[in-house]
This record gives sequence, structure tokens and C-alpha cells, in this order.
Amino acid sequence: MKTLLRGGTVVSAQGETRADVLIEGERVSAVGTDISARDASTVDCTGKLLFPGFIDGHTHFDLEVCGTITADDFATGGRAALRGGTTTVVDFAAPDKGETLACGLARWRKKAEGRAACDYGFHMTIDDWSEGVSRELGEMMALGITSFKMYMTYPAMMISEGDMYRALLRLKELGGVAGVHCENDGVIRALTAQARLEGRMSPASHPRTRPAALEAEAVSHLLRLAQLADVPVIIVHLSARESLEEVRAARRRGQTVFVETCPHYLLLEEGVYDNPDYMEAAKFVCAPPIRKAADREALWEALRSGEIQTVATDHCSFTTAQKRAGQYDFTRIPGGLPGVEHRGVLLYTCGVAAGRITPADMCRLLCEGPAKLYGCWPRKGIVAPGSDADIVVYDPSANQIITAGDQAQNVDYTPYEGWQTVGSVVQVYLRGRLAVDRGRILETGGQFIPRGKCQL
Ligand code: MN
Repeated sequence: MKTLLRGGTVVSAQGETRADVLIEGERVSAVGTDISARDASTVDCTGKLLFPGFIDGHTHFDLEVCGTITADDFATGGRAALRGGTTTVVDFAAPDKGETLACGLARWRKKAEGRAACDYGFHMTIDDWSEGVSRELGEMMALGITSFKMYMTYPAMMISEGDMYRALLRLKELGGVAGVHCENDGVIRALTAQARLEGRMSPASHPRTRPAALEAEAVSHLLRLAQLADVPVIIVHLSARESLEEVRAARRRGQTVFVETCPHYLLLEEGVYDNPDYMEAAKFVCAPPIRKAADREALWEALRSGEIQTVATDHCSFTTAQKRAGQYDFTRIPGGLPGVEHRGVLLYTCGVAAGRITPADMCRLLCEGPAKLYGCWPRKGIVAPGSDADIVVYDPSANQIITAGDQAQNVDYTPYEGWQTVGSVVQVYLRGRLAVDRGRILETGGQFIPRGKCQL
């Protein structure tokens, strides 16, 4: 089966080029001007931007948190991803405490295999250290699981500093890379205990118990350990200006540091927690919390300057009914926001159309950056001969309004309710098949994507 996308503008991280794209089977076979293929079905893409399928390097599908399970699994979350142009997600597999990594991986495979609507890979969580875990890291690398996650907060998952250091050394040996959730757990607990004593248990206390300084402190802490171990690391969901300053300091010392941020840190403000309607405010509880306007502006500036390598969603969705578990105590609100469906259109609208970044920047942040960071370039992340035919057809003139009533995410709200977009994703090809056409999901069927070493 051949498909010819004719007359569009192909976007890469280097720029935009008017070109036709020929798809044969699951791959792109040619990109160029005036390609003729008489046996291909032709699609007119005049006036459209053709992006490589977006890659979301940070999702949580089918995850148990606070005694409940995220509203989206690999089927619903994958459909929502596709609808928004994301053709590949990298989700976080995790062993329970004391379990082997293989055990955790088997569980995540079961959640995804035959169910995932879009292509997927896994990061593996390291929450413990032993000879066994050390050996298993090599086994994970061989299976194409080449990125790992460590937590400096959350008692159920956090790892001690000594063990984190040991893990970093082992990853250096193997060529794996770790993404780390940086927040100072001990002081967050102290601030939370104080809030409880004073009866301040509404969502307004959430950002006050997790201030930016405690993120920056943990970033600095991690980066000093990484300096000692002489390894690159990824700061996931970086949200604060002060954290960026710590990253800059480490880079000035000669360290390699990769940074991910998320749409909600680029687009929302701390005031969302001050909504007098408790459950409205509860919808925005996530960690790190939504920050101040100055943080937001610093993040945009860092996107523009190339200091941030990728924008991922940290999609971790709960319905308002699930969030209600914390209706008298903000610490019991399951943390996380839905977002996997709207990342592309939001970055285009608030980034490209607003003149803050170029289409090439957007491609770098959603496609090429994560593909290289997570070792699946050039299979993913570029529209080029030989690459998977994951293609997003973006129509800059097809404006829409984001609403919960029109989303595939399995939740009853979106943080961006009523937002007017500039343009929209009109077609999405997943490995050559038309998966989405004007909001209708036509085809699903994701594959596990084994990945190689970090290419940045
Ligand atoms: Mn996360």
C-alpha cells in the first residue's frame, strides 16, 4: 500500500521544507519535490504542516496511585495520544518494593501488549539497590529499555542517596540514562505536618508545601552526585526558574544535563489552587505543583534558547470522582493531570502561533529531541526515507476549542477547558496507516519499540 502526501510543508528540527512524502507500507520511502507514484493514493496536504509523529516521553497509564488506578490505560490513553498526534509514548514501568525489575516489566507488558493504541516503550524505575538489580539493569538494556527513573520523593518509590549514586555508576557502565524526580522529601513532609497542625488542608496548601526552592535544592543535590559519578542525567518535569539556575551551574561545570518540562508548567499558574471551589482546585494537584508566572516565562525562554530538550506531559489522569478522595485533605488527592491529547495543539497555539518558538523548535521538543534522548532516532522523530511513517498533518487554519466533551482522554475534565486553539491535528498516520482523521479514530494498534542508547 502506497500513500502520497502531496503539497505539504515537512517540518524537521532544522526547519521547514515544501515536499511530498511517499509512504510505502509502514515506512516513509521518499521525501522530495514532485514525487510521482501512480499506484499511490494521493492526499492533498496543501497549506498543512507535516510533523513527525510526536513522542511523549512521560506518561503514566494504568498506574496505581493512592489506592486508585489512573483513569487512562494503554488503550484509552493511547487513543487520546493518537488523536493529538502522539504516535509513541514512553511509560514508566515499576517493580513493587522488593520485587525484581523483570517482575515489574512483566506487569507493564501485560498492561500494554495487545491493548496499547499507539507505539510505546518503557522506562524502568529503580527504587532499590542490590547485586540483583545491578545485573538486571544490563538485562533491561538488552531488551531495549535504556532509560530509568529514580525518585527523590514519594516514600513508596524513593531511593536513598547512596543507592542512587550506585545506580548512576552502573548506568554509566551500561550507557543507560536516568531521569530523576527532584523534590526534597524531608522538608516537604515537615511543611505538610505544619499545614496539618494549622488546619490548612485545602489545595491552596499544596504549592506552599512543595515550594520551588525544594525542587531546586533536589536538582542541585542530584547534579552534584551526577558530577561525582561523571554521568549525564535527565531532570524530568522541571517546573521552576530556580531549578533552571541549578542546571545552568552544572552545565557551566561541564556536566551534561537533559531537561524535560510539561505543558502545565508552561501554560498554567499557581492561582489555580486558590479557587474557592475545593474540587476545582483539586483538579490541578500534581507534583511538582503548578508554579508562578515568572517560572512560566523562564521556561519559555529556556525552550527558545535550547536549554530544554523535550516537552512531555506527565499524563497521570484521574476523574473528579477519584480526586474527591482528597476532599477534606489535599494530601489524599491523587496527584496528576490529564494532558496526553492536547500537548501538540497547545504547543503550536501558545508557542508557535504566539511567536515564542518556531515550528522547527516544536519539532525538536516533541519529535527529534525525545527520539534522540531516548534512543529511537531516526526510526522515530523525523520524516525521512526509512523512518516509520508516523506523520502528523497539522492544519494551522483549523481552529478548535478544547473541551472535556470532545476528548478521548478517559476523564471528565481538562485543565484547558474552553481554550481556543490556533489550528489542529487533522490526520495522524501510525506506521503508514491512517489512524486519525479529523478527530475520528480509525485505526489503533501500538507496538513495543525497543530503544538504544541516548543519542544526545
Ligand atoms: Mn511522572
